[in-house]
Amino acid sequence: MRLEVTHALAERMRADLKRAGRQEIGGILFAEQLEPNRFKIVDCSTDFHSGSHSTFRRDPVVHNALLRQFFERTGNDFRRFNYLGEWHSHPSFSVRPSPEDVAEMTSLVQVGKSQISFAVLLVLRIRFHFWLDASATLFARDHVPARVRIDAATRLI
Ligand SMILES: [Zn+2]
Repeated sequence: MRLEVTHALAERMRADLKRAGRQEIGGILFAEQLEPNRFKIVDCSTDFHSGSHSTFRRDPVVHNALLRQFFERTGNDFRRFNYLGEWHSHPSFSVRPSPEDVAEMTSLVQVGKSQISFAVLLVLRIRFHFWLDASATLFARDHVPARVRIDAATRLI
């Protein structure tokens, strides 16, 4: 899988990370599928209130409403514009997914839990007020988690 992030969104996320300081923030990722296995993250939800220093739990009601709005904005063209996964920040430690992150994402793509068969986890951290660290990991049903490359074209990440 190849992943891009729009410049505008990367800038917004950077500003949000600065604003949140040492509090974890996060939300869900909305993407456009450019071709098979190639996605551009075009929007995301951001929750400033559910996080703490070390954990992030998003509010499903709020985020589901945002997902519906995204579908409306993109003409319910689900094959092209859809949910891609989750994101959150690790303000105080490395962007490597924690064991809890891996467990939650693995459970998200399991049969019976939801109709989602794959999802990306994007973890971000801002350092020295401008340097953006990022990791992206693909969780797919019946597969081990795989690191995803974020295209250099995105530059900011
Ligand atoms: Zn985490």
